[in-house]
Amino acid sequence: MIRYSLICDAGHSFESWFRDSAGFEQQATEGRISCPFCDSTKVARDVMAPNVAKQRDGAARELRAKLRDLHDTVVAHTEDVGDRFPEEARAMEDGETERRAIRGRATFEEAKALLEEGIEILPIPGLPSDGN
Ligand SMILES: [Zn+2]
Repeated sequence: MIRYSLICDAGHSFESWFRDSAGFEQQATEGRISCPFCDSTKVARDVMAPNVAKQRDGAARELRAKLRDLHDTVVAHTEDVGDRFPEEARAMEDGETERRAIRGRATFEEAKALLEEGIEILPIPGLPSDGN
């Protein structure tokens, strides 16, 4: 049995199992394969699939670049207070220190506590690896 990605003449994609490629050809020629969405029997193997995969790779690369830009922007405009982040955030909130943009680390519990105290914090997405 082999699985084919198929597409009908209305552009619906679906998958179907066939005995072999000859089985698919025969059933398609005889109009015995129908689109599950619109019942069209004009179906063909979806040869666009590899292109779609490439476009997805491109989108992922673009997203990684945007995340890196965002990360760089945050790093360039904030002061790194490291593990003192929760204390620094509270000190600013209480007016003990000057308000400024800071970044640092907080555990999930610490971040939750800050939010419950009404202190606005924003998680920075981690940078995905480039896969190399
Ligand atoms: Zn269809």
